[in-house]
Amino acid sequence: MSLGWKWFVEYQTPHSAHMHGIKGIVYSRKSRVQNIDIVDSCEYGRMLILDGKVQSTVRDEYFYHEALVHPVMVAHEKPEDVLIIGGGEGGTLREVLRHPTVKRAVMVDIDVEVIKSSRRFMPELSGGAFDDDRAEVVIGDGRRFVEGCRGRFDVVIMDVTDPLEEGPGQFLYTREFYESLARILRDGGIVVTQATSVYYSTYCFATIYRTVESVFGRAGGYQTWVPAYDSVWGFVYGTKGPDPEAMDPEGVNERLRERGLQGLRFYDGATHQSLFMLAREVREQLRAGRIATDSCPTFMPI
Ligand code: SAM
Repeated sequence: MSLGWKWFVEYQTPHSAHMHGIKGIVYSRKSRVQNIDIVDSCEYGRMLILDGKVQSTVRDEYFYHEALVHPVMVAHEKPEDVLIIGGGEGGTLREVLRHPTVKRAVMVDIDVEVIKSSRRFMPELSGGAFDDDRAEVVIGDGRRFVEGCRGRFDVVIMDVTDPLEEGPGQFLYTREFYESLARILRDGGIVVTQATSVYYSTYCFATIYRTVESVFGRAGGYQTWVPAYDSVWGFVYGTKGPDPEAMDPEGVNERLRERGLQGLRFYDGATHQSLFMLAREVREQLRAGRIATDSCPTFMPI
């Protein structure tokens, strides 16, 4: 008896996986960078998968994109020039451009096929952001862009694929890379990066934290549940200016009001405060991470 759907199995570790019922494959292609699949899932609607890892789904992507973008954008007094590395489906760019302070949002993604296929088959994710006059899309390796960049930015948002061995993002989680990021970040600037699963790759999360802290001096980690990832997802920031964790709910709501951003689906002052409630043992483990370098990068378990 046919189920009417097939199972897509995403591994979190070699011994733990999440199964997604898939009704159909909309697009599937091996680009020069990675395997790109866009599928219709039963539970989450249309879903972008890169190298076998769920990136975004139409149903719950705002959990991730609002959690990644707004804590640092709200903490910064006046973010005008923003750099996004990765973010190919456009959700991060969409959320950055909601801030009226933004004059220029440069998005650097290594794979034009992710942008093109997402715009065509999952337009809800970018929501028109690619057509915004303030948006500038560069196709290329984020690390090479940063190392050659003469511009300066108020906020940098790292939304690249997980650190996987041989993956395209593996050298964008190292001390050398963060040192080059620090060079293009203005005084008072803040950098944030997705930092893998707090639960299934705690050591990788802690290593990203320690590595960012070793370069910026002041760093913080936070988390949110992302249903389609079937995990609590981690984020790490490094700051040369305000500390997002120091903002209270009233301060966050005041800044959201100032910028006309009250109607977000996931993020507000109360949510902001909850993001920083890491379990005690996770907070302790943050200290136990090592510093990732180009010669010894950090990787997720699978
Ligand atoms: N939410 C996802 C996550 O947490 O893993 C990330 C989403 S986004 C689709 C990841 C993007 O990173 C992809 O579009 C991919 O092409 C891009 N990417 C990977 N390595 C890169 C690199 N070295 N430079 C620039 N973009 C890169």
